[in-house]
Amino acid sequence: MKDWRICPRCAAGLRHGVVAGEDVPRLHCPACGLVLYENPAPTVSAVVERDGRVLLTRRGIEPRRGMWDTPGGFVEAGEEPAQALERELLEETGLTIEVGELLGIYPDRYGDGAPTLNVFYAARVTGGGEGEPRDDVTEIGWFAPDALPAELAFANGERALAEWRLWRAAQSATNL
Ligand SMILES: [Zn+2]
Repeated sequence: MKDWRICPRCAAGLRHGVVAGEDVPRLHCPACGLVLYENPAPTVSAVVERDGRVLLTRRGIEPRRGMWDTPGGFVEAGEEPAQALERELLEETGLTIEVGELLGIYPDRYGDGAPTLNVFYAARVTGGGEGEPRDDVTEIGWFAPDALPAELAFANGERALAEWRLWRAAQSATNL
């Protein structure tokens, strides 16, 4: 949206600057008054565990094509985050999951620079066998927590994994 030039409502030229009633400069249309707020699009992803191993998916599309990623995707309008996560997992891996602990919510920008807000949950597999790569995923992998790839597609995925380790360690301590 940052590089938009033409008003999507009236086709006049857009400007970036101060708008009445706003405290920060906004992309706006001086002709019809439309203000284009750069609000983040929510995504939901998971650290999915089965038998002590963590599921990662290899990206088949840009950005970060070919890199391992935490499975997930964009939330559709009207969707509950957990529902979106279940849908994405099924689409990408054929697995059904049970959504658990909220691990974190972090801001980022996607490949085209559009802002996103990334919600991460812990989840466990409830069905779908071994799973299989589908949709925009070229490979799925089950990794021991101490043998995860050095780098994931997005820093927030690594951040969520770090939170998951802490949560998992606390859970193990409680269950002793
Ligand atoms: Zn306009």
